Amino acid sequence: MSSFAGRMKEYPTVSLDRFDRENLLSRAYFLSHCHKDHMKGLKGPILKRKLEFSRTVRLYCSFVTKELLLSNPKYAFWEEYIVPLELESPTQISLVDETSGEKEDLVVTLLTAGHCPGSVMFLFEGSQGNVLYTGDFRLAAGDASRIEHLHSGSRVKDIQSIYLDSTFYDPRFYKIPTREVCLNGILELVGNWISQSPYHVVWLNCKAAYGYEYLFTNLGEEFNTQIHVRSLAMFKKMPEILSYVTTDRRTQIHACRHPKDEEFFQGSRLPCGCTASDGTPLRIISIKPSTMWFGERMRKTNVIIKTGASSYRACFSFHSSYSELKDFLSYLRPVNIYPSVIPIGRTLTEVTQIPQKTADEGETPDNDENFSLTLSASLSNHSSQNLDSCLPDTLILQPEQGGREQGDKRPSTVAQEESNDQKELSESQVSSDYDIPCTPESKTPRPDELSQLYRKLASGEDVIRKRD
Ligand SMILES: [Zn+2]
Ligand SMILES: [Zn+2]
Ligand SMILES: [Zn+2]
Repeated sequence: MSSFAGRMKEYPTVSLDRFDRENLLSRAYFLSHCHKDHMKGLKGPILKRKLEFSRTVRLYCSFVTKELLLSNPKYAFWEEYIVPLELESPTQISLVDETSGEKEDLVVTLLTAGHCPGSVMFLFEGSQGNVLYTGDFRLAAGDASRIEHLHSGSRVKDIQSIYLDSTFYDPRFYKIPTREVCLNGILELVGNWISQSPYHVVWLNCKAAYGYEYLFTNLGEEFNTQIHVRSLAMFKKMPEILSYVTTDRRTQIHACRHPKDEEFFQGSRLPCGCTASDGTPLRIISIKPSTMWFGERMRKTNVIIKTGASSYRACFSFHSSYSELKDFLSYLRPVNIYPSVIPIGRTLTEVTQIPQKTADEGETPDNDENFSLTLSASLSNHSSQNLDSCLPDTLILQPEQGGREQGDKRPSTVAQEESNDQKELSESQVSSDYDIPCTPESKTPRPDELSQLYRKLASGEDVIRKRD
């Protein structure tokens, strides 16, 4: 969860992803994406008044973010003050002090962030140098080298500072399986289940938040079906998503919510209460997208873990892993790195120190003694103990039990070979509620709460979140 205060040292007259306190004085605003930890103050009455009296103050964001924001009536007053910008097209903005008339020009370029629909990074170029604000992002290793606007000719631009989504900026989160690998694991699990009979049904236990659309569209496409959701309202501005979601309960894939989801599921009921028309009991499994991470010494990783008789956790991450962040930083080699998220169990001071170290130390983490990864070990150990022994062993998704080398041909999505060629560009997620998707850090404001949560996740325990 972002703790960025809104201002960059180099260009302190603009504010990003924070709209309260001193940010009320800013000459321009930038919104990286529609998650509420990046929208503090955005509907505040003081800001609203300021806009009414200003000729030049605007909010810059992507076209998708604009649509998502304006789809909520509380933000409708922004309509005439939003300037949506195209991706990868540098735009000059004049920052005007409306009392003195003094002005400063700044060029801003939106770069894809691969985090949720409409999410972008902002590259600023002006008199104080080039500065990159990442917002929340997930780029695969090697992606930075393919972003044209980070280069001038064939060389990387000189970057003065990066304001970084440091959610997983900790060696414990060395590796998070790529988006494609996670998706394939989920597709396989869902396919194996729903193909057994029309009464085999899957419930995707994910929040109503922008960020899961990528999952819905891919499932819909693969199985030629639609995903049951409670309401289409959050997708109404996204035709490309709308065709994959439905409010008709007669489908085998559900992502519907109910205030008492967890209870419902215990009783083998779907949150929407759907039952088969001929009275045959439905056989339901739940899949909870969660972030899973692995140490750099792990050769193989599981992307699906069975957590109960009919529940699974599937890897899904909206943020770059430690190794992806290292790759990104060592490619761009900024002079300064400012982390905007405090990773679990770290203090702000620690976080501000670590990145400086990384930019200097290059790409080989092996000499770093912090790299002994205990979480990954406890993750697979615990979850194997967790396996419900009365379950049919036709299920392919058993966590590995060690010694998997000898020609064991399990589906690759289940135990993924570590490979160096994870270079495919991550597909940017298409589409939509400002709630923060269920990443471990998202709902836990205090560091001690965070560490507890992470410990639970690491040990394979189910973490039930309180709804707000
Ligand atoms: Zn965030
Ligand atoms: Zn976010
Ligand atoms: Zn449903």
